[in-house]
Parts: sequence; C-alpha cells; structure tokens
Amino acid sequence: MTSPQGGFARELAAIDLKGLSLYAELATDADVTAALAADRVDLRHLAALLSPAAERRLEELASAAQHVTRQRFGKAVRLFAPLYVSNACLSTCTYCGFAKNLDVTRRTLSIDEVEAEARLLTDRGFRHLLLVAGEHRIETSADYLVGVLERLRPFVPSLSIETQTWSDDTYSRLVAAGLEGVIHYQETYDRTRYAEVHAAGWKRDFDRRLNSTERAAESGVRRLGIGSLLGLAEDWRADVLALAAHADFLLRKYWRTEVTMSLPRIKPSASGFQPLVPVTDPAYVQALSALRLAVPDAGIVLSTREPAALRDGLVNLMVTSMSAGSSTEPGGYSTPGASQEQFSISDERSPADVAAMLEAAGFEPVWKDAFGLHETVGL
Ligand code: SF4
Repeated sequence: MTSPQGGFARELAAIDLKGLSLYAELATDADVTAALAADRVDLRHLAALLSPAAERRLEELASAAQHVTRQRFGKAVRLFAPLYVSNACLSTCTYCGFAKNLDVTRRTLSIDEVEAEARLLTDRGFRHLLLVAGEHRIETSADYLVGVLERLRPFVPSLSIETQTWSDDTYSRLVAAGLEGVIHYQETYDRTRYAEVHAAGWKRDFDRRLNSTERAAESGVRRLGIGSLLGLAEDWRADVLALAAHADFLLRKYWRTEVTMSLPRIKPSASGFQPLVPVTDPAYVQALSALRLAVPDAGIVLSTREPAALRDGLVNLMVTSMSAGSSTEPGGYSTPGASQEQFSISDERSPADVAAMLEAAGFEPVWKDAFGLHETVGL
C-alpha cells in the first residue's frame, strides 16, 4: 500500500481496478490458498478472495473471516437505528426512492417531531441514532441539523448523520453540536457508472463526495462510515476492492478514528431501479468475508435491507454493527405510512427480537458503544 499522503482520490487513481478484476476472474486455487495464508491481505490477495475460485471455497473463506472478527472485535455487536428526518431531495440518483424527479409524498420533520421519534427509539433501547436526510440545503440546512443535534444530545449519547456532504466549517459546527459519526457511501467507485446513475444535483460531484469523509475526519468527526451499493456497477468486485482500499487509507491516515464499511445491495424503491448485475447470496457472503480479511480493523455494518436468516448468519461471521426495527420514511416510527420510504426493508423484527437473537447466539448486544469499549476489544 502507498503512504497516506494526499487524499484518497490520488490513491484511487493509481489502483488498476480493471486489472485486479481480471486477475480475480482468472485466479486459480493456488492463488486463493496464498491469499488465505497471507499475513497481510493486499489488493491482489483480495482480488483472489473475490474470485470464482474462492467462491467454491466459501466455507473456508467465511471461517477465516469469523476467526479474524473474533480476534479483533470479540463477540459484541453494536445496535443502532436510522432516524429519517426528511425525504426532501434536490438530487436525482436513479436508484433512490427520494430522487427529486419522483412524484412522492415529501416530509421534513420539525425538531419537535425529530425529538418524538428519538424518544420512541431510546424507549426501545437505542443509544446510537443515525440521522438520515436527502440532499436539500434549505429543508435540512446546517442550521437545522445543528438544532436537531443540540435537541437530541442530552438524551442520545451517540449521534451520526447520513446527509449531503458539507464543508469543513459545517462539519466543525456539527461536531460542536454533538455529532460523533458521518456516513458517506460512495455507492460506486467507477466514475463512468457514477455519472450515469447520479443524473443531477449535489451528489453528482464524484470527487466532492469522495473527499468528504476526509473533510469530516479533519473537522473532528470520530466515526467514519463508507460503503458501496452492490448491483449499481456491473463489476461489483471492483467496488469491493476500491472500498477496501478506501477503508485502509482512512485507517492509516486517521488512526484514532473508527472506520466502518458497508455493502448494501439494491432494494426495491419508488425509483423502480433494477440492479445491473444482481449479487447472489453466496457472492454477498464471499464479498463480506473477503472484505473482513482485507481490512481486519474496520467494523462491518449490516442494515435491515437483508432478510433475517441471512443477517443472523452474517453476524456470526463478520458483522460488528447492525440496525434493527428500522423505518426508512420520515416520521415512520410514530406515524408510519404518512410519507414515502427510501427503500423497503427485509428484516422486520423488533429491536428486542434482534437483541434476543444475538444473546441466544452468544453475542453481547451493545446499544451504546463508547470509545472505551473499542479500546478494550482491540480496535
Ligand atoms: S441517494 Fe440521497 S441524494 Fe440521491 S436521491 Fe436519494 S436521498 Fe437524494
């Protein structure tokens, strides 16, 4: 790996993703064996772990991922809930149910309404909430988010956002108001495909989005979440490789900061978008296992997009953080059905049921993960 000088955009430009994907397609059994035996999994090893040859050794791969997860994270799984504050959006992303061009019911919660949703979620046990909004600089302005954070901070110990990207100054203001984490999924690291699916709006700027995680880290955000939306680009292996390189970069450059990775798969939404290449369940388990081996120190987050049985299996292998009992519409916990959801979820179990599943499987459900806990389990 190269040195963490400069931004990740520079590192990404130097990675031959096409060549690595081709290597993955042609990798042999011996290449997979060498990758599984490597002390440090580099991008070439990762390509071998993402190969058809490795898919034939999925059990071996999953078991190696489980071993590394236990070593680094123990048996603790953090639980969080998304809190959608608005589905107003000025961007048009062709795969999203909130896209500007869609005729859907829009709603932005008042700060009182956000508080009511948050109190409902804390009553269900959550101490870590992820505030989610579309990209609308007026409806969900920086002032609005500061107001929300200041209102929730006294009773929600851990607050993250998944919104539009912001300037350094705004991230600093948000941190001062109580922000702990920022999620920015690049969706796809393929510039051509990125331009095709991000038809209009703020999010269309590939580089701005890519650099935003670094801006957030430099402004004092302590938890950084990145991800690729599988099914968006034809070459899903290239997106997993780029995601691993991105996480590795962030861990090296911001070594005091927690980094998490996610690989959501496209779900049905009002957009009607169909995945270019559906990623099968075995390929999905393979991708997550390979990612764990390549970036052993980053957390892996799993949402309720995936069905219950698959989530239960994945939590036993590499997942370190999961949402539960989620709604993807603004106000969806107190007044479900009053506005448009972003996408449909598959695991509809309550938070208590998910916590009970974790306990039955020998895991500790962690509702609020203080940084001290990470230090004790060696993150
Ligand atoms: S992905 Fe985000 S920016 Fe794009 S349309 Fe959906 S809410 Fe708006």
